[in-house]
Amino acid sequence: MKYAYIHGIILDGSEDMEPQTDKIIFTDGEKIEKITDENENLEGYELVDLAGNYIMPGLINMHAHLPASGKPQKKQTDAAKLVKTLTSNKLTYAVLRQICEGSAKQQLLGGCTTVRAVGGVQHVDSQIRDRIAAGKIVGPRLLSADMAVSVPGGHMAGSLAYEAHDPEEAALYVKDLADHGVDFIKLMITGGVLDAKKKGEPGEMKMTPAEIEAACTAAHERGLYVAAHVESPEGVRAALANGVDSIEHGAEPDEEIIGLFKEKNAFLITTLSPALPYALCDREVTHVNDLEFYNGGVVFRGIIDCSKQCLANGIPVGLGTDAGCPFTPQYNMWRELVCFHRFVGVSNKFALYTATKRNAELAGIENITGTIEPGKAADMIVTVKNPLEDLRALRDLKMITVRGKIIEHPVPKRIKLVEEQLDALDE
Ligand SMILES: [Zn+2]
Repeated sequence: MKYAYIHGIILDGSEDMEPQTDKIIFTDGEKIEKITDENENLEGYELVDLAGNYIMPGLINMHAHLPASGKPQKKQTDAAKLVKTLTSNKLTYAVLRQICEGSAKQQLLGGCTTVRAVGGVQHVDSQIRDRIAAGKIVGPRLLSADMAVSVPGGHMAGSLAYEAHDPEEAALYVKDLADHGVDFIKLMITGGVLDAKKKGEPGEMKMTPAEIEAACTAAHERGLYVAAHVESPEGVRAALANGVDSIEHGAEPDEEIIGLFKEKNAFLITTLSPALPYALCDREVTHVNDLEFYNGGVVFRGIIDCSKQCLANGIPVGLGTDAGCPFTPQYNMWRELVCFHRFVGVSNKFALYTATKRNAELAGIENITGTIEPGKAADMIVTVKNPLEDLRALRDLKMITVRGKIIEHPVPKRIKLVEEQLDALDE
C-alpha cells in the first residue's frame, strides 16, 4: 500500500528536531519513500490526513521482558518453577508463546515499533521476532537475546537465564544462542532488587570476572555484542573491564568507571520505570518489604546518577522500561521518557531523540529505523499534542504505522491498579 501523509507536523527524531509543517511523507510498502513540500502530485497514493497532529518516529524500547505483564503479584512467584511448567509440553509452550506475543503487541500499542527483548524463555522471543518479520502476526520489530546467561543463584537463573557453572559453560551457552540466531547476548552479572538478602546490597556480584570475559569473548567472536544486567558499582566495573558493551540499569559511577565506559566505547541503557514504584509508591499497594524498599531506593538513585554522569561525560545513553517487572507493563514506554526528563533532567526533545534515533544507533539499526527520513522503515506514531511541550502527549496515540502498516486509534490493555499508582506519582 502506498500512502501520502498530509497536514501533519513532523518531528523527525534528530537531536535538534524542530516541528516541520507543510510537508508530505510518502510511504511505499514498508518504507518511507520521500518527504516533499505540499504541492507534490499525490496520484497513486492513498491519502492519510493527519489534520494538524504530530507525527514522529515510532519509539524504541531498549529493555523489555516479554514473558510477564508487569501486573504486580502479592507474593513473589517462583519464576524457575513456573517456567519449568510452561515449557514442560507443547500445549503449555503454546500458551507461553501466546503470552509473549501478547506482550509484543502491547508494546506496539504503546507506541514502540521496535523492542529489544533482553531475556526471555528458551527461544520463544526469536521465534516471535521471525513470525512478526514474516508478516504472520502484527508486532514491533524485535531484537532478541532469548535466554540470558546467569550463574547458579544469579539473577533470573533457571527462568529467563541459563545457569553457567564456569567460564567454559558460559561460553558454550553463548555459542548455542549464536547458533540459534540471537541478535545479541545478555548477561546477568549482579543480582537485582528482589534477589538481595542484605540492606544496601541490591547489586551483589554473581558472575565471576572469568565468566564475564569468556562469555564476552565468545559473543564478540561471533559478531554479537553483549548487554549486561548490572546494579552496583563493582558490577559495572567488572562488566566493562571484561568486555561488556552495554550496561543495563547502572549504578553510581566513579572516575574509573567513567574512564572504562569511554575506553571500551560502551553505552548505558537507563531504566527508571521498575525502580520507581519500589522507591516511591504506596507500600500497602506494592507489597514491597523494608529490604526491597531500601534497596529499591539505592538502585533508583544509582540509575539516575549513572545516567546523569554518562551524559555529562559524552557517554551514549539509551532508554528502556524493563517491562515485565512489577508495575512496569509492556505499554508504558511514554512514562520512561517522562521519568528521564523528570529525574535525569534532560529536555523533552532530548528524551524523544533518545527513545528514537539514539536508541536506533545503540541497537545498531540506525539505517533501518529511528528517524523520519527517506529510506527508513515507515515506523511512525501520531499524537494530538506536541510531545516537545509535554511528553504525556505520547500516552494516547492517534495512529501507529509499523513497517508501513497503519493501526488507527491504538488502545493498549491498561492495568488499572498500576495506572492509578503511577498516575499518582506523576502529580
Ligand atoms: Zn531486565
